[in-house]
Amino acid sequence: MIPVNEALQRILTRTSALDAINIQLSEALGYVLAEDVLSPIDMPPFDNSAMDGYAINEFDSDEYKVVAEIQAGMNASDVTLKPGEAARIFTGAMVPASATTVVKQEITLRDGETVKITEAFQSGGNIRKKAEQIQSGTLALEKATHLNAAAIGLIAMLGIDSVKVYRKPLIKLLVTGNELVEAGNELQAGQIYESNAITIISALKELGFDATAVRVADDYEATAKIVGELLQECDVLLTSGGISVGDYDFVGKAMEENGVRTEFYKVKQKPGKPLFFGSTDSCLVFALPGNPASALTCTYIYVFPALQKMTGSTSLHLEKRSLPMANSYTKRPGLTHYLKGRVVDGTVESLEHQSSSMLNSFALSNCLIVVPEEAEKLEPGDSVSVYILTK
Ligand code: AMP
Ligand code: MG
Repeated sequence: MIPVNEALQRILTRTSALDAINIQLSEALGYVLAEDVLSPIDMPPFDNSAMDGYAINEFDSDEYKVVAEIQAGMNASDVTLKPGEAARIFTGAMVPASATTVVKQEITLRDGETVKITEAFQSGGNIRKKAEQIQSGTLALEKATHLNAAAIGLIAMLGIDSVKVYRKPLIKLLVTGNELVEAGNELQAGQIYESNAITIISALKELGFDATAVRVADDYEATAKIVGELLQECDVLLTSGGISVGDYDFVGKAMEENGVRTEFYKVKQKPGKPLFFGSTDSCLVFALPGNPASALTCTYIYVFPALQKMTGSTSLHLEKRSLPMANSYTKRPGLTHYLKGRVVDGTVESLEHQSSSMLNSFALSNCLIVVPEEAEKLEPGDSVSVYILTK
């Protein structure tokens, strides 16, 4: 049994970025850049107006003669303003080289061919200069940048329609358990509804990953066979249940049979102690304990950082904060506890129903509180680390 930090470290040591692929920008949200993006153009490509108003060639007067109109999208290269002349101009329209300032409409009075400026203005103002955001040939976004909406927008702004990103892992989830029934069927005595598949797939979806689930009976031959097949197909194999010490827990043996190297088995934590992590040359394997809260906690704490690293991300964990406890919590030393908690007004409260078989407190939580291995008692006001979950 190893401590939680060592488990995380062993996972990350075994994990590296997958290969790079070219994808359409419209598909790139959530991916990580596998190369620097250089701008092929100056942005903006020309001096343009930040306001609706008048482009003027400054002169010692507050009255200007309006000699042209420049709308957004028009080529104003041949508009020349002599001192004392103005062009009616609109936001985003090209500012002619001879204009020294754009005066906003709100401080002007128009009378036929003449425009009068009614208030002081800043000389040189309201002109967005060519290349002021980025120059042609220079770095727009660095390799390893996570592509959020704004990053995608910036790339689009530069006229680029495909990017090189790290591909996302192909993830399969193998669900074990003879007691499990799909929703929509009536429960027979001794059965429960299967919930881990949709829980884990949903958690992965929240974090930007897709996975598909396959079921297998608690049968050694069947488990070994399907594990062998899935190892060929995917980059990450997750399994649910069957990794504990029961007579019908066949996942560990099935891994061994298929040549999966054990990186660790069992972590000093609650929930999720029987977590197994292994690898082959092409696949990472996380065998998650079957208890629903254990499986979900291990997905957030261990699977997610590995997936992040595979996609080239340098920010590998859920957001972590240090917050004061709102209530007290007592435990025996020896295991790190991950508690379902709620952050409210800058403090964090641990919830009722922390059992690994329950999801009701998890459903209400917005964070996981990390209570360190050696801690025995937390008092209100004690500082704890929390992983922030999506709201
Ligand atoms: P196991 O790890 O297979 O020993 O399962 C531990 C506990 O989690 C047992 O009470 C199982 O019935 C329950 N469990 C296992 N897999 C699932 C699942 N997919 N959905 C809901 N509960 C499960
Ligand atoms: Mg089981």
